[in-house]
Amino acid sequence: MEEIISLCKRRGFIYQGSEIYGGLAGTWDYGPLGVELKRRVMGAWWEFWVESRDDMYGVDTAIIMNPRTWVASGHAATFSDPLIECKNCHARFRADKIDMENNCPNCGKKDWSDVKQFNMMFETIVGPIKDDKSVAYLRPETAQGIFTNFKNIIDSFYPDLPFGICQQGKAFRNEISPRDFVFRSREFEQMEIEYFVNPDNWETEFDKLLAQIHEFLDLVGIDKTKIHELEVPATECAHYSKRTIDIEFDFLIGREELLGLAYRTDFDLKNIERESGKSMEYRPKDGTAPFVPHVIEPSFGVERLIMAILTTVYTKDGDRVYLKFPKNLAPVRYLVSPLLKNKPELISKAREVYKGLRKRGERVMWDDSGNIGKRYAKADEIGIPECIVIDFETLEDDTVTVRDRDTTEQVRVKIGEL
Ligand code: ATP
Repeated sequence: MEEIISLCKRRGFIYQGSEIYGGLAGTWDYGPLGVELKRRVMGAWWEFWVESRDDMYGVDTAIIMNPRTWVASGHAATFSDPLIECKNCHARFRADKIDMENNCPNCGKKDWSDVKQFNMMFETIVGPIKDDKSVAYLRPETAQGIFTNFKNIIDSFYPDLPFGICQQGKAFRNEISPRDFVFRSREFEQMEIEYFVNPDNWETEFDKLLAQIHEFLDLVGIDKTKIHELEVPATECAHYSKRTIDIEFDFLIGREELLGLAYRTDFDLKNIERESGKSMEYRPKDGTAPFVPHVIEPSFGVERLIMAILTTVYTKDGDRVYLKFPKNLAPVRYLVSPLLKNKPELISKAREVYKGLRKRGERVMWDDSGNIGKRYAKADEIGIPECIVIDFETLEDDTVTVRDRDTTEQVRVKIGEL
């Protein structure tokens, strides 16, 4: 884990948030390669779930919502974790994550406070006056922006059931102890689907979504052998959920939740009906009686997907370290390099190849620093699938060498056939 974190920082994938001021716990900044990776993961998701289907509608809703949203959803009352404090050193922990029979892991004394419930929503103030009426929250999930637009989508599009509404965006949780790199952050990115179904068919639709989730995880190259389905026992499910499956992954920190799939019945839409006084009923086109649809929710976290991808692709082969990204996700697709730096004819030929690939819309990087071995080592650490080198033979027959990241084999290819 330490090696991956260090590579991410060194090579410009992920930096600690506000590092220059000593950091801010639970926040992370994506560098040039990290943002490219993240956008490619989010792009693959959007293409898979929204663009390639007729039954999905994309939205992008506000982060700050009317506070009644969180009263209706139950977050205001119950979105909390149990907090415990060591009265000696004032370190705080999640009471469900440590054994209170033991001494404080920070100072070694045993003097625990009572357990208190700590609400994880970030508060903010809307408008110039700070009073009870101006308090709002940064959304702790993207789902409520979807539910509150259910009626708008029906009115604008009148889709057939089943249909889904999808959203990607930031979510904020004031986690008591952010930890394990980006795994538990205070600001992170979610990708959520609310799939509205006729309650008579929920089981079939649940199974279909579960199969599609596995298809998506495969598409982004996550190691299948490390993925596990945890059927959450009925006694541990949220009271409104009739079935929840946590998709877990063998992270380097242990087996933990990667994403969730939950059948949430009509809990959310009924809550909105109660709080807003507006009907959330769907009128079937065949003239049968209107009803409030039920919902199945696949909920993905981008940071955890990125951690699962990094865990999968991080490869050590003797002294060689490389990131075995699938070609569709690699932040840089080709490296273009002149064999020698001080030969103008090589440089100008290499520039031509570089510009040609750029023009074609490829993600291409230029490198003429150090020697070729060092350039390959750097390209491997970034996970560039192919390195193209322009040498003296190129000037004679217009061929270049293409080196494969995974096998390190080199082949000669005509520039026109690249
Ligand atoms: P956990 O039990 O690990 O706290 P959760 O059950 O609270 O997770 P959900 O509320 O189901 O998580 O959120 C859906 C998804 O959002 C999670 O599966 C995860 O991928 C992501 N997620 C939740 N909290 C965080 C966080 N603090 N940092 C990064 N990703 C998160």
